[in-house]
Amino acid sequence: MTRRDLDYQSAKELMIREHLMGRGIRDPRVLSAMREVPRESFLPDEMYAFAYDDSPLPIAAGQTISQPYIVAYMIEALELEGNERVLEIGTGSGYAAAVLSRCAAQVCTVERIAVLAQSARSRLEELDYWNVTVHLGDGTLGWQEQAPYQGIVVTAGAPEVPKALLEQLAPGGRLVIPVGVTQHLQSLVRVRRVGEGEGEYRHEDLGPVRFVPLIGEQGW
Ligand code: SAM
Repeated sequence: MTRRDLDYQSAKELMIREHLMGRGIRDPRVLSAMREVPRESFLPDEMYAFAYDDSPLPIAAGQTISQPYIVAYMIEALELEGNERVLEIGTGSGYAAAVLSRCAAQVCTVERIAVLAQSARSRLEELDYWNVTVHLGDGTLGWQEQAPYQGIVVTAGAPEVPKALLEQLAPGGRLVIPVGVTQHLQSLVRVRRVGEGEGEYRHEDLGPVRFVPLIGEQGW
Protein backbone atom coordinates (compact mmCIF):
# COMPACT_ATOMS: atom_id res chain seq x y z
CA MET A 1 0.00 0.00 0.00
CA THR A 2 1.33 3.50 -0.81
CA ARG A 3 0.39 6.92 0.49
CA ARG A 4 -1.80 7.42 -2.59
CA ASP A 5 -3.89 4.30 -1.84
CA LEU A 6 -5.11 5.70 1.44
CA ASP A 7 -8.29 7.68 1.74
CA TYR A 8 -6.83 10.48 3.85
CA GLN A 9 -9.73 12.84 3.25
CA SER A 10 -12.37 10.73 4.96
CA ALA A 11 -9.96 9.68 7.74
CA LYS A 12 -9.21 13.35 8.36
CA GLU A 13 -12.90 14.34 8.42
CA LEU A 14 -13.59 11.55 10.90
CA MET A 15 -10.73 12.73 13.11
CA ILE A 16 -12.02 16.31 13.02
CA ARG A 17 -15.60 15.31 13.80
CA GLU A 18 -14.92 12.69 16.48
CA HIS A 19 -11.65 13.62 18.12
CA LEU A 20 -11.59 17.40 17.77
CA MET A 21 -15.19 18.70 17.61
CA GLY A 22 -16.44 15.69 19.57
CA ARG A 23 -14.06 16.60 22.42
CA GLY A 24 -14.81 20.30 22.48
CA ILE A 25 -12.52 22.03 19.96
CA ARG A 26 -14.61 24.96 18.67
CA ASP A 27 -12.25 27.61 17.24
CA PRO A 28 -13.08 27.76 13.49
CA ARG A 29 -9.54 28.94 12.68
CA VAL A 30 -8.04 25.88 14.39
CA LEU A 31 -10.53 23.44 12.84
CA SER A 32 -9.92 24.84 9.38
CA ALA A 33 -6.11 24.63 9.83
CA MET A 34 -6.37 21.02 11.05
CA ARG A 35 -8.49 20.25 7.99
CA GLU A 36 -6.00 21.88 5.63
CA VAL A 37 -2.60 20.63 6.85
CA PRO A 38 -1.66 17.12 5.58
CA ARG A 39 -0.37 15.30 8.69
CA GLU A 40 0.73 12.38 6.50
CA SER A 41 3.37 14.64 4.90
CA PHE A 42 5.08 15.10 8.30
CA LEU A 43 5.40 11.39 9.11
CA PRO A 44 8.03 8.78 8.35
CA ASP A 45 6.90 6.36 5.60
CA GLU A 46 6.22 3.45 7.92
CA MET A 47 3.74 5.59 9.91
CA TYR A 48 1.63 7.02 7.10
CA ALA A 49 -1.23 4.56 7.56
CA PHE A 50 -1.78 6.00 11.05
CA ALA A 51 -1.75 9.67 9.99
CA TYR A 52 -5.28 10.41 11.24
CA ASP A 53 -5.34 8.18 14.29
CA ASP A 54 -5.69 10.40 17.34
CA SER A 55 -2.34 9.41 18.82
CA PRO A 56 1.24 10.62 19.02
CA LEU A 57 3.58 8.79 16.61
CA PRO A 58 7.35 8.26 16.52
CA ILE A 59 9.47 10.50 14.28
CA ALA A 60 13.29 10.57 13.95
CA ALA A 61 15.76 10.98 16.85
CA GLY A 62 13.51 9.22 19.39
CA GLN A 63 10.99 12.10 19.36
CA THR A 64 7.25 12.21 18.61
CA ILE A 65 4.68 14.09 16.57
CA SER A 66 1.93 15.06 19.02
CA GLN A 67 -1.61 13.67 19.08
CA PRO A 68 -3.89 15.77 16.79
CA TYR A 69 -6.34 16.56 19.62
CA ILE A 70 -3.51 17.95 21.78
CA VAL A 71 -2.16 20.02 18.88
CA ALA A 72 -5.62 21.53 18.36
CA TYR A 73 -6.23 21.99 22.12
CA MET A 74 -2.93 23.80 22.69
CA ILE A 75 -3.35 26.07 19.67
CA GLU A 76 -6.95 26.87 20.63
CA ALA A 77 -5.68 27.79 24.12
CA LEU A 78 -3.47 30.47 22.52
CA GLU A 79 -6.68 32.36 21.54
CA LEU A 80 -5.23 33.55 18.23
CA GLU A 81 -6.99 36.01 15.93
CA GLY A 82 -4.68 35.67 12.95
CA ASN A 83 -2.43 38.74 13.24
CA GLU A 84 0.03 37.50 15.88
CA ARG A 85 3.70 36.54 15.91
CA VAL A 86 3.90 33.15 17.64
CA LEU A 87 6.84 31.18 19.01
CA GLU A 88 6.78 27.37 19.14
CA ILE A 89 9.38 25.49 21.17
CA GLY A 90 9.89 21.91 19.90
CA THR A 91 9.55 21.90 16.10
CA GLY A 92 9.79 18.10 15.85
CA SER A 93 8.25 17.13 12.50
CA GLY A 94 7.04 20.68 11.75
CA TYR A 95 3.36 19.62 11.79
CA ALA A 96 2.17 21.87 14.64
CA ALA A 97 4.14 24.78 13.15
CA ALA A 98 2.25 24.26 9.87
CA VAL A 99 -1.09 24.29 11.73
CA LEU A 100 -0.02 27.42 13.64
CA SER A 101 0.96 29.12 10.40
CA ARG A 102 -2.70 29.04 9.37
CA CYS A 103 -3.83 30.59 12.68
CA ALA A 104 -1.26 33.42 13.09
CA ALA A 105 0.64 35.88 10.88
CA GLN A 106 4.16 34.67 11.65
CA VAL A 107 5.53 31.53 13.29
CA CYS A 108 9.03 31.14 14.73
CA THR A 109 9.82 27.60 15.84
CA VAL A 110 12.87 26.34 17.72
CA GLU A 111 14.24 22.77 17.75
CA ARG A 112 17.35 21.56 19.60
CA ILE A 113 18.02 18.45 17.45
CA ALA A 114 19.74 19.42 14.18
CA VAL A 115 18.42 16.55 12.06
CA LEU A 116 14.82 17.38 13.04
CA ALA A 117 15.24 21.13 12.49
CA GLN A 118 16.73 20.48 9.05
CA SER A 119 14.07 18.05 7.87
CA ALA A 120 11.21 20.18 9.24
CA ARG A 121 12.66 23.23 7.49
CA SER A 122 12.87 21.41 4.13
CA ARG A 123 9.38 19.94 4.49
CA LEU A 124 7.80 23.29 5.42
CA GLU A 125 9.53 24.95 2.46
CA GLU A 126 8.46 22.21 0.06
CA LEU A 127 4.85 22.54 1.21
CA ASP A 128 5.08 26.34 0.99
CA TYR A 129 4.48 27.30 4.62
CA TRP A 130 6.28 30.58 3.89
CA ASN A 131 5.43 32.31 7.20
CA VAL A 132 7.29 29.74 9.35
CA THR A 133 10.96 30.14 10.32
CA VAL A 134 12.80 27.19 11.87
CA HIS A 135 15.65 27.97 14.25
CA LEU A 136 18.15 25.44 15.66
CA GLY A 137 18.85 26.09 19.33
CA ASP A 138 17.87 25.69 22.96
CA GLY A 139 14.23 26.76 23.10
CA THR A 140 14.25 27.05 26.90
CA LEU A 141 15.92 30.39 26.15
CA GLY A 142 13.21 31.32 23.63
CA TRP A 143 14.28 33.24 20.54
CA GLN A 144 15.16 36.76 21.59
CA GLU A 145 15.76 38.13 18.06
CA GLN A 146 12.06 38.00 17.13
CA ALA A 147 10.55 38.75 20.60
CA PRO A 148 8.04 39.77 21.86
CA TYR A 149 5.46 37.13 20.94
CA GLN A 150 1.69 37.37 21.38
CA GLY A 151 1.60 33.58 21.72
CA ILE A 152 4.17 30.98 22.84
CA VAL A 153 3.52 27.24 22.77
CA VAL A 154 5.92 24.64 24.15
CA THR A 155 5.51 21.07 22.90
CA ALA A 156 7.79 19.37 25.46
CA GLY A 157 7.41 19.06 29.24
CA ALA A 158 9.32 21.49 31.49
CA PRO A 159 10.11 21.24 35.23
CA GLU A 160 8.94 24.87 35.52
CA VAL A 161 8.05 27.74 33.22
CA PRO A 162 11.34 29.04 31.72
CA LYS A 163 11.97 32.64 32.75
CA ALA A 164 13.17 33.56 29.24
CA LEU A 165 9.77 32.61 27.79
CA LEU A 166 7.93 34.75 30.34
CA GLU A 167 10.15 37.68 29.43
CA GLN A 168 9.60 37.20 25.67
CA LEU A 169 5.81 37.13 26.02
CA ALA A 170 4.15 40.40 24.95
CA PRO A 171 1.80 42.15 27.41
CA GLY A 172 -1.62 40.55 26.80
CA GLY A 173 0.07 37.43 25.34
CA ARG A 174 -0.57 33.76 26.18
CA LEU A 175 2.01 31.03 26.87
CA VAL A 176 0.88 27.38 26.81
CA ILE A 177 3.31 24.88 28.30
CA PRO A 178 3.31 21.39 29.90
CA VAL A 179 4.86 21.65 33.39
CA GLY A 180 5.53 18.75 35.74
CA VAL A 181 7.75 17.44 38.50
CA THR A 182 8.55 14.25 36.56
CA GLN A 183 9.96 14.07 33.03
CA HIS A 184 6.95 12.32 31.46
CA LEU A 185 3.77 13.57 33.14
CA GLN A 186 2.74 17.19 33.27
CA SER A 187 -0.13 19.65 33.67
CA LEU A 188 -0.83 21.88 30.73
CA VAL A 189 -0.51 25.44 31.99
CA ARG A 190 -1.66 28.66 30.33
CA VAL A 191 0.13 31.80 31.47
CA ARG A 192 -1.30 35.21 30.56
CA ARG A 193 0.87 38.27 30.76
CA VAL A 194 -1.61 40.82 32.01
CA GLY A 195 0.79 43.79 32.24
CA GLU A 196 4.35 44.95 31.65
CA GLY A 197 5.72 44.27 35.15
CA GLU A 198 7.53 41.17 36.41
CA GLY A 199 4.74 39.87 38.66
CA GLU A 200 1.97 40.40 36.13
CA TYR A 201 1.33 36.84 35.03
CA ARG A 202 -1.82 34.74 35.64
CA HIS A 203 -1.55 30.93 35.60
CA GLU A 204 -4.37 28.47 34.74
CA ASP A 205 -4.28 24.66 34.80
CA LEU A 206 -5.72 23.17 31.58
CA GLY A 207 -5.45 19.50 32.59
CA PRO A 208 -3.02 16.56 32.58
CA VAL A 209 -0.81 15.82 29.53
CA ARG A 210 2.15 13.60 28.68
CA PHE A 211 5.06 15.01 26.65
CA VAL A 212 8.71 14.20 25.99
CA PRO A 213 11.03 16.29 28.21
CA LEU A 214 12.12 19.84 27.42
CA ILE A 215 15.90 19.60 27.60
CA GLY A 216 18.06 22.69 28.04
CA GLU A 217 19.42 25.44 30.21
CA GLN A 218 16.00 26.37 31.68
CA GLY A 219 14.50 22.87 31.25
CA TRP A 220 15.57 19.37 32.38
N1 SAM B 1 5.56 20.06 17.67
C1 SAM B 1 6.11 18.82 17.19
C2 SAM B 1 5.42 18.30 15.97
O1 SAM B 1 4.42 18.88 15.53
O2 SAM B 1 5.92 17.31 15.42
C3 SAM B 1 6.16 17.76 18.26
C4 SAM B 1 7.26 18.00 19.17
S1 SAM B 1 7.89 16.69 20.15
C5 SAM B 1 6.51 16.23 21.15
C6 SAM B 1 8.91 17.67 21.23
C7 SAM B 1 10.10 18.28 20.55
O3 SAM B 1 10.72 19.17 21.47
C8 SAM B 1 11.17 17.28 20.15
O4 SAM B 1 11.44 17.38 18.79
C9 SAM B 1 12.38 17.68 20.99
O5 SAM B 1 13.62 17.49 20.35
C10 SAM B 1 12.09 19.15 21.20
N2 SAM B 1 12.81 19.78 22.32
C11 SAM B 1 13.06 19.31 23.55
N3 SAM B 1 13.75 20.21 24.27
C12 SAM B 1 13.93 21.30 23.46
C13 SAM B 1 14.56 22.56 23.62
N4 SAM B 1 15.17 22.93 24.75
N5 SAM B 1 14.55 23.41 22.58
C14 SAM B 1 13.94 23.08 21.42
N6 SAM B 1 13.34 21.91 21.19
C15 SAM B 1 13.32 21.02 22.22
